[in-house]
Amino acid sequence: MYFALACGAFATAEVLACLRVIIENPFVTHYLANLFIIASPLFAIAGLKQVTSMQSNSYASFKIILGGSALVLMPIYDVTAGQLLTSFIIACLFLVAANTVYKMHTNATAQKNMLLVFFVLHSVIMFIQVVLLGMQLMTTIALNFTQPLQVILINHLFLATATALVMPFVLFADIEAKLQRLVNRDTLTGLLNRRGFLLDGEKISRHVKTHDQNLAVVMIDIDHFKSVNDQFGHSTGDMAIKWIAQHILSQLNDYDIAARIGGEEFALVLPEQSLSQASYTAQKLCDVIREHTLKYKGNTINLSVSIGVACKDANTQSIKGLLDLADKRLYIAKSQGRNQVVATDEHTRQKKQNLVFNNQVN
Ligand code: GH3
Ligand code: MG
Ligand code: MG
Repeated sequence: MYFALACGAFATAEVLACLRVIIENPFVTHYLANLFIIASPLFAIAGLKQVTSMQSNSYASFKIILGGSALVLMPIYDVTAGQLLTSFIIACLFLVAANTVYKMHTNATAQKNMLLVFFVLHSVIMFIQVVLLGMQLMTTIALNFTQPLQVILINHLFLATATALVMPFVLFADIEAKLQRLVNRDTLTGLLNRRGFLLDGEKISRHVKTHDQNLAVVMIDIDHFKSVNDQFGHSTGDMAIKWIAQHILSQLNDYDIAARIGGEEFALVLPEQSLSQASYTAQKLCDVIREHTLKYKGNTINLSVSIGVACKDANTQSIKGLLDLADKRLYIAKSQGRNQVVATDEHTRQKKQNLVFNNQVN
């Protein structure tokens, strides 16, 4: 909004100033034009401060500067002194804007530096204009600075346009990065969500494909979770989900990916792990959750998880395909009594020949 207001104020000021060639009304073509040209950097500064969440009373200073300028310019707007004062005010405002940009923390470093240069240059040419107008005003000799002042005007228009083009990058780069993080994260656990899981998972999948490495996908579902909610309440249920997420993270290596892909369902991507290695990891996780007790708000809650494991092979390579396979095996783990890891499509009868870990307690 501030960016749009800054651009709008600048365009309005230029339009009003241009009207000088067709109408004879200095109040509109000088006074109002000057106020709009002062308002433009003020809006830009307010926007920059808001985006960077700098603690500042920018509304009050905005009103004081604009109101003060309106008062001081009133008696002098149609003489050189009015133009000089306006130039001085905006030269100072560009310095303030440069300082605000300098203090900003942003990902768009190149654009930030460009913006900084534009503001400083703009301030410098406005100060040159102040000096030239001052010389015209103070000396008794008739000085003609028409040409240098025209060059300054052209540069002023060029710098304002360049600033307007670069500023959105600086203003929106961090917001975009923040939104990108949010859209891929689960707010309760801080783990990736399903979207983030599939995005990062496919990236890893492409990497392991080019390096001809193993890749395992694990799917985890909390057992009888509905009864946790029913017995202890939804907020305790939320805490249990977080507790499980922490246990999951404690079992992972640096390059593994963990996500909460559904209500009480989690998924992992374990690069460079074979089916037996991933099953071992899954079994450790299953044991750790079973062996620990969640204590929350005076309640003692014992949880267990069922886990399905799938590993990349000639038939299944994509993360989605492996997730489906792991889900199918998770379903087998549930049907066989829960609190266990299943890593093949066979049921318990064949488990001794296969990689099935049944760790059912009781
Ligand atoms: P099973 O062992 O077969 O997985 O049984 P279950 O009760 O865990 O499975 P079911 O899918 O029937 O229930 C999942 C429950 O998870 C239902 C829903 O109320 C709860 N749930 C889903 N998301 C959340 C959440 O964000 N917070 C809380 N507290 N509960 C959730
Ligand atoms: Mg469940
Ligand atoms: Mg479930």
